[in-house]
Amino acid sequence: MLKTGFDRSPMFTGRIEGVGPRYCPSIEDKINRFAERDRHQLFVEPEGWNTVEIYVNGFSTSLPEEVQYEALRNVPGFEQSRMFRPGYAIEYDYFPPTQLKHSLETKIIDHLFFAGQINGTTGYEEAACQGLMAGINAHQKIRDLDPLILKRSEAYIGVLIDDLISKGTEEPYRMFTSRAEFRTLLRQDNADLRLTELSYRMGLASQERMNEVLNKKNAVEKIKSILAETTLDPEETKDYLLSRNSTTLTQKQKAIQLLLRPDVDLPSLILALPRLQQEFSSASTEILEQAEIQIKYDTYIQKEKELVERMSQLEDLIIPDSFNYDRLSALSTEALQKFKRIKPRTLGQASRISGVNPSDIQILMVYMGR
Ligand SMILES: Cc1cc2nc3c(=O)[nH]c(=O)nc-3n(C[C@H](O)[C@H](O)[C@H](O)COP(=O)(O)OP(=O)(O)OC[C@H]3O[C@@H](n4cnc5c(N)ncnc54)[C@H](O)[C@@H]3O)c2cc1C
Repeated sequence: MLKTGFDRSPMFTGRIEGVGPRYCPSIEDKINRFAERDRHQLFVEPEGWNTVEIYVNGFSTSLPEEVQYEALRNVPGFEQSRMFRPGYAIEYDYFPPTQLKHSLETKIIDHLFFAGQINGTTGYEEAACQGLMAGINAHQKIRDLDPLILKRSEAYIGVLIDDLISKGTEEPYRMFTSRAEFRTLLRQDNADLRLTELSYRMGLASQERMNEVLNKKNAVEKIKSILAETTLDPEETKDYLLSRNSTTLTQKQKAIQLLLRPDVDLPSLILALPRLQQEFSSASTEILEQAEIQIKYDTYIQKEKELVERMSQLEDLIIPDSFNYDRLSALSTEALQKFKRIKPRTLGQASRISGVNPSDIQILMVYMGR
């Protein structure tokens, strides 16, 4: 049924040339791309308490109005439905985000900040986090304070903004965890520990929130140090380890060591050992979980921190705004063009521009006296 309108859809007739939003494809797009499927799920979302209107999620379309209506009434359960408004196609346009600084201020026009879809992103969270950062930085700017720039190793916001302004984007940018290189550090469970202090120092997080995080931090450290000091002996752990299908101990071992085993977890260990139960009776699940994560993944977390440290040495090498790339005749043409266009702020940013090779970075380093 829907196919009958393809020749009149602006997406197919060429009236709309842009790539549609990849992550919200229209129903005709889905029919085109997934022709072999014989079913498709729709979500029926009420528009409010006091209306009979519903949003048919999964049915976005720009087909002719009468085709939409007929197709809708062909859906089981919708035979009697009425259509308030037809669907329509959307096309994206944006300002190339490579024209922005990390603060989201435009490079050319002082005091003009861009955030959200205008920078080529799609998504609620993508827009919201940029709005937050642009707002913070507009405030910082007007007060003559340093901008707040989150690093790639500190927050997904840092990854998003750095990607946008270093690489630009050819199609609506969405924040995927796979875009971040330091995923062991950027965990959901440690967002408060990572970012509250920064927010507090900016005057955003309240004293109360800051105190909560500090208390959590201290409580986690305390649990870790108790576990590091507690020695377990083979006899008291025998039943527990057998129940976990884990090898029993042949000699005494620190509790923190035992926790490194994949088949041992903190809540069950505490439950099995009265000694620990007493010690941790007041610790909340959240705090125990944080301590356990930090213990179990310590090696990986430390490794990633070292990597961040090594990378940050490049991040600390600031390239002056006035740097004359034309002097560097050994640079590849692509790197030269991109450096001049993007004007990376640091060697780290320069190294992440697509098409820039390690050799180009070496040349830059030599010229910057490193
Ligand atoms: C049909 C559809 C479904 C979507 N579904 C999802 C989803 O499920 N999940 C998700 O994460 N994202 C979704 N998105 C994407 C998401 O809605 C957008 O990326 C996000 O809302 C963009 O926010 P923004 O603040 O940058 O822009 P907008 O929300 O577009 O805000 C821009 C504002 O500026 C105003 N404006 C424009 N010009 C002027 C002017 N000259 N003067 C004054 N004001 C002006 C506009 O009226 C508008 O209010 C969807 C988008 C569409 C179109």
